Amino acid sequence: MPLTSPQKFEESLSENVPLAPMATLGIGGPARYFAEVTTPDALLAAVEWARFRGTPLFVLGGGSNIVVADAGFPGLVLRISIRGVETNFDGRDVVITAGAGEEWDALVAHCVARNWAGFECLSGIPGRVGATPIQNVGAYGQETSETLESVEALDLATEKLVDLSALDCEFGYRTSRFKVRDRGRFIIARVTYRLAVNGKPVVRYPELQRYLDELGIVQPALAEVREAVLAIRRRKAMVIDPRDSDSRSVGSFFVNPTLTRDEFEAIKKKLGAGGEDLPVFAVSDGRVKLSAAWLIERCGIKRGHIHGNVGTSTKHALAIVNRGGGTAGEVVELKELIKKRVLEEFGIELMPEPVFVGFGE
Ligand SMILES: Cc1cc2nc3c(=O)[nH]c(=O)nc-3n(C[C@H](O)[C@H](O)[C@H](O)COP(=O)(O)OP(=O)(O)OC[C@H]3O[C@@H](n4cnc5c(N)ncnc54)[C@H](O)[C@@H]3O)c2cc1C
Repeated sequence: MPLTSPQKFEESLSENVPLAPMATLGIGGPARYFAEVTTPDALLAAVEWARFRGTPLFVLGGGSNIVVADAGFPGLVLRISIRGVETNFDGRDVVITAGAGEEWDALVAHCVARNWAGFECLSGIPGRVGATPIQNVGAYGQETSETLESVEALDLATEKLVDLSALDCEFGYRTSRFKVRDRGRFIIARVTYRLAVNGKPVVRYPELQRYLDELGIVQPALAEVREAVLAIRRRKAMVIDPRDSDSRSVGSFFVNPTLTRDEFEAIKKKLGAGGEDLPVFAVSDGRVKLSAAWLIERCGIKRGHIHGNVGTSTKHALAIVNRGGGTAGEVVELKELIKKRVLEEFGIELMPEPVFVGFGE
């Protein structure tokens, strides 16, 4: 029995709350009901309230990976703001448990400043801790799954808090059990990570290596890697900056496609000499990952492409941006146009990265 009752929870509800200001894209209609929860008990009460009323539920973090429909969301939007960071030392490691509502980049900065290695390449990613396991957030050669130890979540199937190990989360490239098989089943309350005290930074991403080489940094400190990642990301408007309208986005709009060797060879053959600069990354089990941005540009949709009040970023073809007054309808149109062009040209179906909210999914 939760300490906060569904009746008490009802008192904290707001109605018809605009979601656009809570989404980095700055687009979308209102939430029919909205509440912010700061404790697992309040979370449980909210879930019971929604279940009793038969109201659909959407769980919101920092709103940096969502496209909200112009009509908004017809149910309860629950913003998870459970805070708190607990650290325990275990041999040469530090074990950190953070509330789902903690700002992700603030946690990264906190850890880098203490010389705890494992998050440094994930610097500058917007959003909150609770969302990092959802799509196994990753960047510049590092992924959440490398340091995540466990997740404490409310299982909506049983209405009980459960602990899930990293293995239970079924992580993959930009995916997990939470995004696919059990989409909508778990609400993450806390996440536990294991970092290496005084560990070495991970520099395995070529662009990051080149950047450090240019600065003449041979054995970078964690803080230098963080700064390098932030600088590279700023050049692509991949750090939220109110002065840079190209950062009014959800980051990359499509996941980089992974292909079998045979599929890849067929595309290379088709491209001939024109495909020599196609960026290719090796992934596990012999598959290769291609750059979605390269494919999009090659189809004639360049950086700065305009589609009504939305478009592609002037710094990165993979980001769809709100140029001011954009609508979700326009975002969806542009998404479909890009998908169609890439499918026609390369036979590759690009998969969107953000979550679509209120589209009747
Ligand atoms: C400029 C920019 C750059 C970006 N760069 C990267 C990048 O380099 N790498 C990368 O991986 N991503 C990147 N992203 C995408 C995004 O920042 C991440 O996916 C981030 O983890 C989303 O966090 P959020 O709190 O904003 O989640 P939201 O956008 O609020 O939600 C995203 C999804 O997670 C679910 N969710 C959120 N919190 C919880 C919870 N507590 N329990 C259960 N479900 C939850 C939501 O229901 C939704 O399905 C970028 C986005 C932007 C705008």
